[in-house]
Amino acid sequence: MRHTDVLIVGGGPAGAACAWRLRQRGVDCLILDRQRFPRAKPCAGWITPQVVRDLDLVPGDYSGGFTTFPALVVSVRGFRFRLPGRQHAIRRGEFDPWLLRRAGVPVHLHKVRTVARVGGAYVVDGTFAGNYLVGAGGTHCPVYRTLFREGSPRDRGSLIVTLEEEFSYPHTDPSCRLWFLEHGLSGYAWYVPKTGGIVNVGIGGKADSLRASGDRLKRHWVLLVDKLDRLGLVRGHTFRPRGYAYYTRQDRPDVRRDNALIVGDAVGLATLDMGEGIGPAIRSGLLAAEAILNDSDYDLRTIPRVSLLPSRQRFLAGLRRP
Ligand SMILES: Cc1cc2nc3c(=O)[nH]c(=O)nc-3n(C[C@H](O)[C@H](O)[C@H](O)COP(=O)(O)OP(=O)(O)OC[C@H]3O[C@@H](n4cnc5c(N)ncnc54)[C@H](O)[C@@H]3O)c2cc1C
Repeated sequence: MRHTDVLIVGGGPAGAACAWRLRQRGVDCLILDRQRFPRAKPCAGWITPQVVRDLDLVPGDYSGGFTTFPALVVSVRGFRFRLPGRQHAIRRGEFDPWLLRRAGVPVHLHKVRTVARVGGAYVVDGTFAGNYLVGAGGTHCPVYRTLFREGSPRDRGSLIVTLEEEFSYPHTDPSCRLWFLEHGLSGYAWYVPKTGGIVNVGIGGKADSLRASGDRLKRHWVLLVDKLDRLGLVRGHTFRPRGYAYYTRQDRPDVRRDNALIVGDAVGLATLDMGEGIGPAIRSGLLAAEAILNDSDYDLRTIPRVSLLPSRQRFLAGLRRP
């Protein structure tokens, strides 16, 4: 049996941020992940300046591609405007391994199946034990499933379904574009050009709205591909999108049971307006680490519930632009 102070299930942004903070303070931790990094993770890779600050990330020190947009080009039901304010994009295939490396903790390739409480410790698959257990396994986190789901089921109404693809493409339009609420979709589509000739396109919408109207996300994907072609943004590419589902912010989720804590998508923390999940995952990982280090409350109320609404002034400034 391998014993550690803090056993972390999942090495995505939530688990890596938690490990990074714990390691900085000399706590012994071990990350278990079922996938070898770099792993395929459907994600547009948009990060806010707040994420850069939370991670003390100096773009010059970051080894992967780092794209900065001075503004977002937004369209809401066909009404177009620029939303000023610096935003960034990374590639998850580079960003997540970088976060893990920087955390500096051992990562073990292992798919977690069972979680048990034995005496004072948490035991995973009879092989790994920790005084604390952090569930950072994303939507399908086994820690959430075993210890939290029954008492704190996620709200099915907050499930987002997505289709996404990232690929090499010699893009000529450098603007990050978002199209909201088109063709009856309760969600939005995106085009994110990244440094190094990479483009990420995708679409996401609320699962229950699609179901209620008998609609399918695939129909919206076809419309998006057609739009990209019409606007000259992506032409002649054979798309092979991947699907993934995750949850936006839950109301009063149960996030701690004794010394077991859950973070990131395992809770369901993505923002209500944009489905931004990387920042909330990192913040929750850091907060979980602080709660363990200080033996204090683990409280997620300081994590913003929305991405864009706080920037009302920026939004209005954008509308006033010619
Ligand atoms: C198409 C799409 C686009 C998105 N775009 C953005 C965006 O632009 N910006 C943004 O902020 N957010 C975006 N998000 C959301 C964001 O990707 C997630 O919120 C974020 O990855 C959550 O991080 P996490 O660490 O909680 O989980 P994850 O990144 O999912 O990491 C969980 C880890 O746990 C591991 N794991 C799972 N089960 C087990 C197991 N049984 N045993 C061991 N390991 C396990 C997995 O292998 C994985 O590495 C997007 C999501 C999707 C689907």
